[in-house]
Amino acid sequence: MSAVVTVPNRLGVHFQVFAEAWRGADRERAVAGAREAGFDFVEVAVFDPVDFDVAGARTALSTGGERMGAVVCTAPGFDADVSSADPAVAARGEAHLLRCVEIASELESDWLVGLTYGAWGRYPGPPTVLGRAHAVAALGRVAARADELGVSIGLEVVNRFENNLLNTSAQARALIEEVGAANLYVQLDAYHAHLEEASQAHAVAGCSGRLGYLHVGENTRGPLGTGAIDLRGLLRAAVAAGFTGPIAFEAFSAHVVGETGAAALCVWRDLWDDSVALARHARELLSAELEAAWTTAGEVAR
Ligand code: MN
Repeated sequence: MSAVVTVPNRLGVHFQVFAEAWRGADRERAVAGAREAGFDFVEVAVFDPVDFDVAGARTALSTGGERMGAVVCTAPGFDADVSSADPAVAARGEAHLLRCVEIASELESDWLVGLTYGAWGRYPGPPTVLGRAHAVAALGRVAARADELGVSIGLEVVNRFENNLLNTSAQARALIEEVGAANLYVQLDAYHAHLEEASQAHAVAGCSGRLGYLHVGENTRGPLGTGAIDLRGLLRAAVAAGFTGPIAFEAFSAHVVGETGAAALCVWRDLWDDSVALARHARELLSAELEAAWTTAGEVAR
């Protein structure tokens, strides 16, 4: 007799699957799209925490029915790089992260994820010892504030072209160990891991039980399941490791993300047209694969 499994992972979708920027009516469109596709939460990007419109975001999340779940992600620029050797730049990075933690709390997001340990972009060289020390010290203080507000922090491991400090899960695990805060977790992204790790399962293993948050997306940035990403291998490894955290879907198309988004993401082509259809398909595939993974895990446990 096969047992009915309950998948514990909440499923979300990045707002840029639906809209160019988190502003104006684009916010409502993103929330409506995420809802229509059957997701539990929408990932809201905070690029400028100083000018972020919290009230507007709250209103947008409440449109069209029950309040939509939210997870705050961020990606600071080089002027607010907490891993900079320049103490003034690192301090701006810390202020950026502290405000993002507060915004997460104000939006009832129990996570702050993304580039939470440095800048998003191509670095001219390897990390410096001093810069890394700045990041470790700042993360300790940011994690303490996040803990007061009930927020966990995911450190998103990204590929070498988008940051120089954390390109593998093992590097993230080591940094978290060094900071020593209980609410810091490794955030894996299948797209980035595909470039840097031996396999998706190897990326999960490198977290050593510290995987907290997961991004799934294709290597092409197109429809889930149509590229080279081993989604099944990733989910089976994550579930076997006991991962119950949130999973968010990312895909980017030039006509949706606009000029600024295209330049930031290096998305120069239209990989797909229909945001809601793409998101619904991803949600259904994710649900099916997760159910299978949790069923297998349950059978192994018995
Ligand atoms: Mn990601």
